[in-house]
Amino acid sequence: MRQSQLFTKTRREAPKDEVSQNAQLLIRGGYIHKEMAGVYDLLPLGLRVFEKIKQIIREEMDALGGQEVSFSVLQDPEVWKKTDRWDTEAVNEVWFRTELNAGGQLGLQFTAEEPITHALSNHISSYRDLPKYVYHFQTKFRNELRAKSGIMRGREFVMKDFYSFNRSESELEAFYEQAGIAYQNVFRRAGIGDMTYLTFASGGVFSKFSHEFQCVSTAGEDTIYIDTEKKIAVNYEVMGDDILKDLGLSKDSLVEAKAIEVGNIFKLGTRFSEPLGLSFTDEDGKNRPVVMGSYGIGVGRLMGTIVEVLCDEKGIVWPESVAPFAVHLVELSQGDEKVRSYAEKLYEDLRARGIEVLFDDRDLRAGEKFADSDLLGIPHRVIVGKKTTDLAVEVVRRKNGHASTVSRDQLLDGVYHA
Ligand code: ATP
Ligand code: MG
Repeated sequence: MRQSQLFTKTRREAPKDEVSQNAQLLIRGGYIHKEMAGVYDLLPLGLRVFEKIKQIIREEMDALGGQEVSFSVLQDPEVWKKTDRWDTEAVNEVWFRTELNAGGQLGLQFTAEEPITHALSNHISSYRDLPKYVYHFQTKFRNELRAKSGIMRGREFVMKDFYSFNRSESELEAFYEQAGIAYQNVFRRAGIGDMTYLTFASGGVFSKFSHEFQCVSTAGEDTIYIDTEKKIAVNYEVMGDDILKDLGLSKDSLVEAKAIEVGNIFKLGTRFSEPLGLSFTDEDGKNRPVVMGSYGIGVGRLMGTIVEVLCDEKGIVWPESVAPFAVHLVELSQGDEKVRSYAEKLYEDLRARGIEVLFDDRDLRAGEKFADSDLLGIPHRVIVGKKTTDLAVEVVRRKNGHASTVSRDQLLDGVYHA
């Protein structure tokens, strides 16, 4: 993509009312647009990152046996009344509800246990139909009280929500372990594995614990307590002496840290299957409710977290796996036709090799181009200037500023650093 054609512009300042670092940087880079508190739009560069994050999550969910669906955002009150989640104090804080012109109400999805469980009851009846795993990426609406964490806490946001349907608690247990590993794969691939801890949180009626995936960051809204040797953490709900003992942890060796909840996994048992009538006939002909689990990741929350924990004073630093482009090709022709056409040819040849390139072909001074390049955070900056030859092309790595010289052929082979 040619930067001269991109409709978005970089800017020196973010809007005054934006207090979060992730949104400030993303707005300045032209990745997102802010509509109002808690409501952001994805612009071309932002959408590219977003889709890459989704793809990583999708691959890991598919590997777990997940079948991707897309369930409507519009919610039928009748279904939610069955589980007592249409109109109670606990859910009234989050629902966006609306009146139909034709009479009656409907809601905007804030999670999807109800519709998915309800729909599956049309398809599952025997132990032979199980286990099944279903997920989607869908827009959620939540009437969050505070929306001060940029794209990490939207009033509208996309969640990957995954639901497991098993025959027994032991079958769920085994799957739940696998899901935890898949989550760790997602966060490692997204570049935040080192700082993200499996965190014990309170469970519910059906299990002692649920688990959060907490990424250590000063921008976090949560506080966790880390056992650095075991590489696990607990949240405040789990800080009781008895529980810590159960987990083999001691209060004295736990380190407190601020953290961002990038995902969580939860055993639901029969909390939803029972009231919604999702049951199956077991091998002995007995009717039993399906045993469920739910597994969430906020796609924007993860994108914002990556910005927060990897950025530096110059701007965003994307890991290669989610970067909008692999290469930022910056030409410094200053009107020199030879340099200009060398860069043009290199752009075409890189693209022909399937390498994703943002080409800064704008007529600007080097200093401005480099400042923008630092802000945008593309992993490899290829610089074409008067000294560039086929044997010596300069490449600077965004994450540490290291400069290397590679040949044109190496570059076309995807070798950026000698
Ligand atoms: P939090 O405690 O941060 O409000 P939650 O417990 O409400 O999160 P869930 O309902 O379990 O979160 O949602 C699953 C995942 O969705 C979270 O782990 C997080 O990644 C993401 N998420 C939740 N709320 C938001 C939001 N307002 N904006 C963006 N992502 C969100
Ligand atoms: Mg919440």
